[in-house]
Amino acid sequence: MPLKAAIVPVTLFQQNCTLLWDDASKLGAVVDPGGDLDRIEEAIDKIGMQVEKIILTHGHIDHAGGAAELKEKLGGIPVEGPHKADKFLLDGLAAQGAGFGMTGVRAVTPDRWLAEGDTVTAAGATFAVLHCPGHSPGSVVLFNAAQRFALVGDVLFRGSVGRTDFPYGDSAALIDAIKTKLLPLGDDVAFICGHGPMSTIGDERQTNPFIA
Ligand SMILES: [Zn+2]
Ligand SMILES: [Zn+2]
Repeated sequence: MPLKAAIVPVTLFQQNCTLLWDDASKLGAVVDPGGDLDRIEEAIDKIGMQVEKIILTHGHIDHAGGAAELKEKLGGIPVEGPHKADKFLLDGLAAQGAGFGMTGVRAVTPDRWLAEGDTVTAAGATFAVLHCPGHSPGSVVLFNAAQRFALVGDVLFRGSVGRTDFPYGDSAALIDAIKTKLLPLGDDVAFICGHGPMSTIGDERQTNPFIA
C-alpha cells in the first residue's frame, strides 16, 4: 500500500494527530495538529516526509490548536478544512485554550474550507469529504476509497461516538450522519479516530451501542 499513516498523540486530550505520507515520494500531510509540535516535527523528521498541507477535521483545540504555528514553521503550507460551520471555533481557539490553561494558542484561518462532495488530495491519494455535523457543526470525515481507509475525527470512536454536550452539539444530527454517511462506506473500511484505538466500520456497525 503506497499510502502510509502514523499517529502522534498530542495535547492533554491525547488526540491522534495523524501523519499521512506516500511511501515512495515521502510527500504527505499532517491531520489535526492540536499541539505538542515538537513531537509532531520529530515524527515528520523520522519518517523523512515533506509536508505539503495541514488538514483539519474540526475546530476543537486538541485538533486545531497547533495549526497556525505549524503552518508558519513549514513555510506557510495550506490548511484545508474543516467545513466553514466551524469558523467560530477556529476564530476562538485562544479562548478555547485559555479554558484549559493553555497559553499561546492562536486562531487559524484555513486556506480552503471543505464541503460535502469535495475531494482532498494528500500523500498522493484522493479523499472524499463527508460533512458530518453533530459533535461540531463543521466536522468533516475524509474517506480514501482505494485503500478502504477513513479519518473520522471526533465523529465516531471504537465503541462510542463524539460528545454532543456542547451548546452547539446535536446528537440527532451526529447519529444521522454516522448512519447515512459512514456506515454505508462498507464494513471493510478501517478508520483512525480523534482519540483512542482504530476500528472498522463493520466492528462499529455490529457492536457500537450508540448506533445500534
Ligand atoms: Zn472534538
Ligand atoms: Zn478531540
